[in-house]
Amino acid sequence: MFVCRLCALPLFQSSAKFDSGTGWPSFFAPYDPAHIRQIRDSRHGMVRTEIRCARCDGHLGHVFDDGPPPTGRRYCLNALSLRFVEAG
Ligand SMILES: [Zn+2]
Repeated sequence: MFVCRLCALPLFQSSAKFDSGTGWPSFFAPYDPAHIRQIRDSRHGMVRTEIRCARCDGHLGHVFDDGPPPTGRRYCLNALSLRFVEAG
């Protein structure tokens, strides 16, 4: 289980992790969509969707529409935003 480094909210499960080839931790689905806040980000001359922790508003990374099945989503995380903990 990957949790928010700042507030420990559960964000992603390792079962949803995949190798995107980018070097960033990448997931095709969140643990709970309600734990992720999405914000349109038009900085740097491109439109992306920023993702933040829904509880502490900490920056997590971005989400893209070129991920694998079943969701087609690619949650691209900043490794510094996450902490890995054993489930349970
Ligand atoms: Zn948080």
